[in-house]
Amino acid sequence: MSDDGPVTTTVRAKPDAVAMAAVETARAALLDDVDAADVGEHLGAVVEGERLATHLFACTRRGYAGWRWSVTVARASRQKTVTVCEVVLIPGDEAIVAPEWVPYRERIQPGDLSPGDLLPVADDDPRLVPTYSFGDDPLDADEKAQVRTVASELGLGRVRTLSLEGRDLAAQRWYDGDGGPESPIAQAAPDSCRSCGFLVRIAGSMADSFGVCANGDANDDGRVVSFDHGCGAHSEVRLARKHEPPPLPEPVHDTLTDDEFVSF
Ligand code: SF4
Repeated sequence: MSDDGPVTTTVRAKPDAVAMAAVETARAALLDDVDAADVGEHLGAVVEGERLATHLFACTRRGYAGWRWSVTVARASRQKTVTVCEVVLIPGDEAIVAPEWVPYRERIQPGDLSPGDLLPVADDDPRLVPTYSFGDDPLDADEKAQVRTVASELGLGRVRTLSLEGRDLAAQRWYDGDGGPESPIAQAAPDSCRSCGFLVRIAGSMADSFGVCANGDANDDGRVVSFDHGCGAHSEVRLARKHEPPPLPEPVHDTLTDDEFVSF
C-alpha cells in the first residue's frame, strides 16, 4: 500500500481457451431458441471477463441486416466445459436501429396541439416562477412587494408568471423566427416595423423590442414582430411612379355612330 492509500489496478482478463473454443456449444444453444435459417456464420468471440466469452453469429433474418446473435458462455473454476449464460440479438455497426428515444415532452413542436389536447407544464419548469415571488408588472420594487403581498393574501392574480429565463427564451425564439429581422420578408422590406403605423405596442419588459402587427393585409397580422422586422405592407410604403398603373384615358363620346342601348 502506498502513502496515498490503496492502489486499485484493473487486470485485463485473459482469453479462456475453453470458452473461446466453445463455438459449437454456443451455436447449439442459439439453435434451441432460433430457427436455423436465421443463423449465419460465426463472426468471432470477445472476452467479457475471466473465463467468460461472447460468441457472435451473423443474423440472416430478413430485415435484420447488420444484427448479430450474441451467445455468452462461462466456464466455472476447475471445470472443463462451459455453460451458456444468455442468448440475445444485438445491433452491429451496420445495423438499422430505431432513432434514439426522445421523450414525448421534448418531441412536441409548435402546431402539434389539436383542439382538446392538454399539455401540462411541469411544476419545476424553469420558464415559470410563482407570481408572488417575481411578477412582471412595471411597479417599482416597494410597490411590487406590497401589491404582491396583498394579492397573494387575497388569492388574486396568476399563480405563475414567466421567469427571466422563460422571457429570454421567448424573446430569442421570436427574434430568430418569422417575426424577426432575419426572415426573408424582413430582409426585402423597404422599412421596419418600428416606423409602421400598423404596429401595436405591448406593455411589459418586452415593450422596447416587440409589438404586434395589426395590418390585415400583412402576413404577420396578429403576430408578435420585432421592431427591426418589416414587410412590404408597411404603412408608409409608396409605389415608385414607374410601378404605378398607367392613368386611364379620358372618356370619349362617339358622335359618328349610334350606340346600342338595351332596355331591361
Ligand atoms: S405591416 Fe409589416 S411593417 Fe407594418 S407592423 Fe406589420 S409586419 Fe411590420
